[in-house]
Amino acid sequence: MKITMAHGSGGKSSAQLMSEIFGKHFNNEVLSKMEDAAVLNVGGKIACSTDSFVVTPLQFNGGDIGKLCVCGTVNDLLMMGAVPKYLTCGFIMEEGLDVDLLDKLVESMAKQAREAGVIIVAGDTKVVEGDGGLYINTTGIGEIPEGRDVSSSNCKDGDVIICSGNLGDHHACILSHRMEIENNIKSDCAALNDIVDGLFAAGINVKTMRDVTRGGLGTVINEISESSGVRIELDEEGIPVDPEVKGFADILGLDPLYMGNEGKMIAVVPADQADAALAAMRNTEHGRNAAVIGRVKEGEGAFIRTRLGATRRFDVLYGEGLPRIC
Ligand code: MG
Repeated sequence: MKITMAHGSGGKSSAQLMSEIFGKHFNNEVLSKMEDAAVLNVGGKIACSTDSFVVTPLQFNGGDIGKLCVCGTVNDLLMMGAVPKYLTCGFIMEEGLDVDLLDKLVESMAKQAREAGVIIVAGDTKVVEGDGGLYINTTGIGEIPEGRDVSSSNCKDGDVIICSGNLGDHHACILSHRMEIENNIKSDCAALNDIVDGLFAAGINVKTMRDVTRGGLGTVINEISESSGVRIELDEEGIPVDPEVKGFADILGLDPLYMGNEGKMIAVVPADQADAALAAMRNTEHGRNAAVIGRVKEGEGAFIRTRLGATRRFDVLYGEGLPRIC
């Protein structure tokens, strides 16, 4: 069966879609009340983030748009030191979308939400003319426990920058699908609860966390340098990149340091806690390839020491590397 305009009518077909797909997978005590708005219990400081997901193809090696739209928003909450609690989702479906595929994607979304500790408390669907495409917006709410202060503006001279793992995997995976190149490159799409929980459980005074998404490491490092008013020096040698992804990027003239990821982050920590932070990250599933990649200095701008020993400016990405990767 395919999605038709009738599924967006608000009538019988809409109700059927709601109960047979969304209700079935997302069922929880808030959503099942079917009120006009979800009423949530939240205390203290909350973090809120929203993101729209337009990735194509909808399914890829290592994930799909359902998994991605949970991980993306959950990770943004986590990066502020928040404990992710609630998600809302808006589905924009194009006419012709396969209902069995939609069911799989919603199931994948529900599974990832359970794993990331969030419940889906509100949602909306719309059907538009088109060619079977699907776009999902998610908004997330998380609670920030007392005493946590994580921000891009917290970095100081001497701090150490740790990257949670290999860069470029998601971007290379999506590009491989789009170019119909067969390889083993898998998206790193993942919710990073384990890494963030691990850092706080180890008592690390985490200053800054950022997930390394669209625009890659180059974008994130420059934003931190600017927000904190510091110079950042990275060491290219130490930045983890999978050899297959490196080879793939080289052929296409791309740089993994500017490629998007969906399950990688950097943490900036005080120098005297760097060893403990690295150990805590490596002790988690999603941080097992973590590495120290650079340091914070007095001054301004982002710089990178290349494999050949020269130091050059590490600029932001100019132009769009690849549209619709997330
Ligand atoms: Mg982010």
